[in-house]
Amino acid sequence: MKAQTHRIPIVSLTLAVFLAAAPSTWALPRIKVLATGGTIAGAQVTQADAGYKSGTFSVEDLIKAVPQMTNIAVLTGEQVANIGSQTMNHEVWLKLAARVNEALKSPDVDGVVITHGTDTMEETGYFLSLVVKSDKPVVLVGSMRPATAISADGPINLYNAVALAGNPEAKGRGPLVVLNDTIQYARETQKMHTTRMDTFASPNRGIAGMMNTGKAFFYSTNPVRHTTKSEFSIADLTVANLPRVEVVYSYANLGGELIDTLVAQGVKGIVLAGVGDGNSTDAALAALEKAAKQGVAVVRCSRTGAGVVDRNVEVNDDKLGFIAGMELNPQKARILLMLGLTRTQDIKQLQRFFVEY
Ligand code: GLU
Repeated sequence: MKAQTHRIPIVSLTLAVFLAAAPSTWALPRIKVLATGGTIAGAQVTQADAGYKSGTFSVEDLIKAVPQMTNIAVLTGEQVANIGSQTMNHEVWLKLAARVNEALKSPDVDGVVITHGTDTMEETGYFLSLVVKSDKPVVLVGSMRPATAISADGPINLYNAVALAGNPEAKGRGPLVVLNDTIQYARETQKMHTTRMDTFASPNRGIAGMMNTGKAFFYSTNPVRHTTKSEFSIADLTVANLPRVEVVYSYANLGGELIDTLVAQGVKGIVLAGVGDGNSTDAALAALEKAAKQGVAVVRCSRTGAGVVDRNVEVNDDKLGFIAGMELNPQKARILLMLGLTRTQDIKQLQRFFVEY
């Protein structure tokens, strides 16, 4: 009897404590961390091994390394790959995009964070811009210093990324890239420096905003078509049926031989990383014109890193049968052309993609 009279207050107390604690946990955003590797998961190794190795730590290690994140989100992790992003490839992209779409479809996930090497982060982010089918936040994050370095930047970058992925203000903007307290649209950003922490910049439209220890300040919107408004999808894509598109880098004295070789190999598209306003030598332009006449989609971009390559300025695109790459750098133009060619081979339609995306 005595024991029973004591049981009620203990149960009530437990319930009261639970209810007092529960709402704050329930209100936390539920974020899925999809890990792909990169320096953020890298460790310094012996000098003989050349400095450090990307993709050493697992997603669980990354989450455990920043315990403060449990105050701002309920986290789950999944290892999609564990590679240096210099070896990023179509297979991982298709797998990653499928996992992002699946995660975001779930009512139990409010946003996704993708840990990634910085070398090709802008390409993965742009690919996802075109094929993710959700307006929930997708945030790519990496670091310039490995986890074991002095003043490693990974932990604060990851904290910011998780905070941003759980922030309703990040919805509907397309994939975002967060490093060095800066938010950038994946479509705009590019890696500009080999080693500095402020390596990412958005030279055409500027940065999306700033982070201050988890707090986001947005400066601009993303006006181009992406995610829920994109007409592209991975639904029927495989590594084998993605059209082959290559980039040709332009420089003084470039000949047409490389372009001829690519055409002979059966490429479906060529992106010119042109000098200046998407320009090249007479020999290269003649080879590209010949390629276009044989049905290869030719897109002119610039190797300068900024600006718009518009139609018919110094090069007569109408006459030569070319597509102007507009605001996209060559590496992103390759992705749009590849996806575009899964839809159409019509030059006008392909040009429309470069205006709208
Ligand atoms: N090559 C590495 C990578 O992209 C280094 C760049 C980084 O992660 O910062 O994975």
